[in-house]
Amino acid sequence: MVKSALAAALFLATAAHAAPPSGAPSVAADRWWSHVTELADDKYEGRLTGTPGYQRAADYTAAQFKALGLKPAGEGGTYFQTVRFEEQVVDQGASKVSVNGKPLAVGPDLLIGRQPQLKDVRDAPMVFIGYGLHLPDAGYDDFAGQDLRGKIVVYVNGGPSNLSGALKSHARAAEFWPAMERAGAVGAIALSNPKSSDIPWERQRLLAGQSGMVLADPALRDAKQRHFVATFNPAEADKLFADTGHSFAELIALQEKGVALPRFDIGKTLSADVAYSTREVSAPNVAAMLPGSDPKLASEYVVLTAHLDHLGVGAPINGDRVYNGAMDNASGVASLIETARVLKAKRPKRSVVFVAVCAEERGLLGSRYYANRPTVASAAIVADVNMDMFLPLFPLKTMVAYGADESSLGPVARAAAAAHGLTLVPDPAPDRNIFTRSDQYSFVRTGVPSLMLKFEGVTPEQKGLEAAFLKSRYHAPSDDTAQPLDKAAAATFNTYLADVITRVADAPTRPQWNSDSFFKRFARGGGAAIAGR
Ligand SMILES: [Zn+2]
Repeated sequence: MVKSALAAALFLATAAHAAPPSGAPSVAADRWWSHVTELADDKYEGRLTGTPGYQRAADYTAAQFKALGLKPAGEGGTYFQTVRFEEQVVDQGASKVSVNGKPLAVGPDLLIGRQPQLKDVRDAPMVFIGYGLHLPDAGYDDFAGQDLRGKIVVYVNGGPSNLSGALKSHARAAEFWPAMERAGAVGAIALSNPKSSDIPWERQRLLAGQSGMVLADPALRDAKQRHFVATFNPAEADKLFADTGHSFAELIALQEKGVALPRFDIGKTLSADVAYSTREVSAPNVAAMLPGSDPKLASEYVVLTAHLDHLGVGAPINGDRVYNGAMDNASGVASLIETARVLKAKRPKRSVVFVAVCAEERGLLGSRYYANRPTVASAAIVADVNMDMFLPLFPLKTMVAYGADESSLGPVARAAAAAHGLTLVPDPAPDRNIFTRSDQYSFVRTGVPSLMLKFEGVTPEQKGLEAAFLKSRYHAPSDDTAQPLDKAAAATFNTYLADVITRVADAPTRPQWNSDSFFKRFARGGGAAIAGR
């Protein structure tokens, strides 16, 4: 069994190394695709965390790990780690929001968020606080000198161009709610530049019926209290800014220049009755281990993650209700499985833990849980490399390694890229906050140097393919297996990924944060509190 698996893996590595022309069939590409077609099949019902469809997908992934001969790395000798959640569902249609007593249309004007909501808000004054970024260490703080007690803050996503994308992302993801709660603010309304929104407003409306989740353990929540949380339709934003002396167009023009925004009282009050219900749910992370081949280094772990969950069954688009999530992120789980196959043959020195996590789509919750309550010694996790919707839409030549500028993982990813004839390019859209929008970020926050790898188009044609995916398939039922993909390019990606992991796992020293990285503060012994912040 071990011998034949090894031979097959060696064959695969050779086949992938021979680099068949994109589009040509290969065993490696077919294997990867077989997992994508399986997990994106309608029978998994869109793999929503907490549903039977998700559990079936977890069972499939565990069976693949077992077939590869990987050790169970979940709880109690199983491949599963149970994660508990509180789930909430907002009834947008039954919720009421008004400004200065004048009703807004929930849906066309604004959507109520999926976070634990305040059910009842009465005449809360609204104040515009620019980008809503709290980064005093970096010399920037939209909360400074403001009296926000009992108020609703309104902000525009983005930030000044002199702050790094990673820093702005971190402020949005990790610093916002603690700053809000210290200031005593009761709620937040977010606005986005429509040019940088991934999803048009009409599709955001369709998605608003989705449930929200928080981890059952309050120590692992960013917001400790309930708040009024909403997103405002940019096309209707001047309903907020009328009579303030400011317009949304003016604010967006400044946001596009990357300069500071004014902060001002909106001079209106907001009231809301939010209709929502809560329940308890649980779902597993699926974890397996390839023990390291070096007796000294095997007690350290490189973690490879990909989220297994997606959006489930929801509002129909063109008659299709199943959100299959083929690229988001059956593709990443397929790579997790196939990379395990290649790594088994390579026998890296450190141990490698493969974790298919739940509840990414609900706010990186499965990874947050694993990073804070790992099934291996926490301090022995040396790196996380994550895959989420890496988008093999064209032959692989150029990639982004999110987080490459923050740690010694960057040079490793670059050297491996060069060895495969690939080029790493800078993040072309730092304001999309991708660095904080997938599971690697849960590990960053516990001090672990991390990367997320993704294809990046550089030609107009490639950029067009990516834009078309985001516009029409991302978080829509059409992210299914009928879309055009470059399966051979996905196999090339898997070979590259296995090389990156091997280099990290075989290096004599563990990865380090760069001395000038903002995220170095989370490193163990770095001073800042980690869990529960
Ligand atoms: Zn997604």
